[in-house]
Amino acid sequence: PGTGRKQYVIANWKMNKNIQETLEFLQQLKEGNGVEVVVCPPAPLLYPAKLYVQGQKKEIQIGAQNVHQEDKGAYTGETAASLLKEIGCSHCIIGHSERRQYAQEDDATVNQKAKQALKRGLTPVICIGETLEQKQQDQTEKVLTKQILGAMDGMDVSQVVFAYEPVWAIGTGESATAAEAQRIHGYIRSVLEYLDVQNAEKVSILYGGSVNENNAQEFASMTDIDGVLVGGASLQVDSFQKIIAVFA
Ligand code: PGA
Repeated sequence: PGTGRKQYVIANWKMNKNIQETLEFLQQLKEGNGVEVVVCPPAPLLYPAKLYVQGQKKEIQIGAQNVHQEDKGAYTGETAASLLKEIGCSHCIIGHSERRQYAQEDDATVNQKAKQALKRGLTPVICIGETLEQKQQDQTEKVLTKQILGAMDGMDVSQVVFAYEPVWAIGTGESATAAEAQRIHGYIRSVLEYLDVQNAEKVSILYGGSVNENNAQEFASMTDIDGVLVGGASLQVDSFQKIIAVFA
């Protein structure tokens, strides 16, 4: 708040929830009051989720957790950005650490996917973050710089959202402290300034990694933290709603 940047609260459900649970959650979820609320369910639930929020006339956006980098063609099991757009998605998470780890996505893939998402009108939410080992070896800034420059090659920073998600904080219950996160977000913004002095100030940079209703307020109070990407605590509508309220 106060920065003029969009504030985001994004639910990353990962591989959780069925149809009924999704519709129940969306029925109870209230609008963001100025906060960009984006719910990212598993791929087969994107369209029913979109239809449901549309039917309820609620300003809740639906985002994908992944997208393929090619337009269309012989890519068994993959989903095209154009299709995600057609069914009403607004955003797409790209380069989540679980995809970097389990699906071997590297910075070049992240770059291709982000370009493809943008080309089809989806806002990429690009995830970056260091592992515990990299942190312990004081490599955090170096790793983040490489991830940012790789992801942004040939791209316009004003068109993307970043999420700083230290890998050691994801799903561990051990979040970064708000002060630590603020320092890193400031660093990320300085790298974005190096790429584009004009627009770096406008980029929303979200924190992710064990965010919950108890620690969200501290993150929200930091100038360079423009929202949160929430995994575990986004599965309970009450917790998620409380996190949204903090950023509203
Ligand atoms: P977590 O996950 O909130 O459960 O730590 C965050 C994420 O992976 O985006």
